[in-house]
Amino acid sequence: MSKKFYELTPDDRLLELSLNEQTRQALSNRQSAVNAQLVENYISDFRVPIGVVHDILVDGKRYSVPMAVEEPSVIAAANNGVKMLSDSVRVKMSRMAMIGQMMFSNAVDLSSFILTHRNEIFEIAKRAKPSIYQRGGGLLDFKIRKVSENETSLDFIIDTKDAMGANIVNTIMEAELVLFEQFKPLGVILSNYATNQLVTVSAAVEFKQVGGFEVAKKIVSLNHFSKNDPYRAVTENKGIFNGISAVVLATGNDWRAVEASGHAYASRNGQYQGLATWTIVDNKLHGELTLPISVGTVGGAISAMPDAKQALSIIGNVGADDLRGIILSVGLAQNLAALKAIASGGIQRGHMRMQYRALAMQVGAHSDEVIQVVSHLIKLKQVDASIAEKVLMEIRN
Ligand code: NDP
Repeated sequence: MSKKFYELTPDDRLLELSLNEQTRQALSNRQSAVNAQLVENYISDFRVPIGVVHDILVDGKRYSVPMAVEEPSVIAAANNGVKMLSDSVRVKMSRMAMIGQMMFSNAVDLSSFILTHRNEIFEIAKRAKPSIYQRGGGLLDFKIRKVSENETSLDFIIDTKDAMGANIVNTIMEAELVLFEQFKPLGVILSNYATNQLVTVSAAVEFKQVGGFEVAKKIVSLNHFSKNDPYRAVTENKGIFNGISAVVLATGNDWRAVEASGHAYASRNGQYQGLATWTIVDNKLHGELTLPISVGTVGGAISAMPDAKQALSIIGNVGADDLRGIILSVGLAQNLAALKAIASGGIQRGHMRMQYRALAMQVGAHSDEVIQVVSHLIKLKQVDASIAEKVLMEIRN
């Protein structure tokens, strides 16, 4: 009997796909034994460039931070933003914890049950995952949250220490199910809306760092716009996530979880708003960014992927809480760079050199030709692929 697709080796799977020989070979050459164990139907790796934000000062400590991102100019802008943050970024957070949900859709009243079974609920959690208690974490609390007339969530607050904690939370939640059987729960699962992992970073910026008081005022007005206009807010937050998601990805964390949670938080007032806030305080531009951020420095893909461990080692020996502050600081720097560029006449000028590099490669320039093509294109008023191709041909002749 022939094997099912998922039972084939990565190379045999490639043979099943309609690919030309060159593509098949290229995909085969990029395979890695470790990643083949991570996902089903593995065929190859997809590479994303990694760069660093160099020398960001967070709570008085200097870090180099890896960013994995395909968009040209994101890393350049982040570094630019870091240079403008004259003082150290300050980080504020309280004890971080994940939320696990037990969901009911049958108008249950759990209040007296959870009161009388309080100790048992804590005991079940301890038995389900004793190792997280040895690390100083575990179930901290649980509370009833009414979702609608007939829907209730029993929220379990669980400290997962340096792990992102999805598996830890789900293990505890599934162990708790049995105790609540009589109430016919719909199911249990962690919530990715990490409101018990709210982190705030803030920084003060001298006006001269952004090009003067007038630019600073424009930055404040632009940011204010994002509090009232979802069209602007989405773009401003996308810019913030340019920084955040790039570090989250480089460190092997789950960027979908961080983004989903961040966007939900941006809508917490009933309207989608910009996540950062810029004001003028004591003759300085003051920036603040708060969002829920659930990341780890152990567990999940981080422990499995050498790439993630290597990227984390660039930052140094940090725990999950340090990492949260560092990630948000990069998000704030990224936000400042974007607002400064818009306030001083647009982002295209800064962007174009990086975009033209991509365009040069798209039209077939080799690495040693890219700089020459870019320096020609930068002088032209109008640029497109056919013009880039012509410039490349001229250089070659
Ligand atoms: P793991 O279960 O892989 O890792 C956590 C384990 O790491 C702990 O149980 C602990 O095991 C060990 N550990 C070692 N040092 C520490 C420390 N200092 N602090 C805490 N734990 C430590 O992963 P997570 O529970 O973090 O789950 C994350 C993974 O789950 C991610 O890959 C995510 O994508 C995935 N996932 C996400 C979902 C979602 O977001 N909705 C749903 C399901 C999965 P021990 O104590 O035994 O050594």
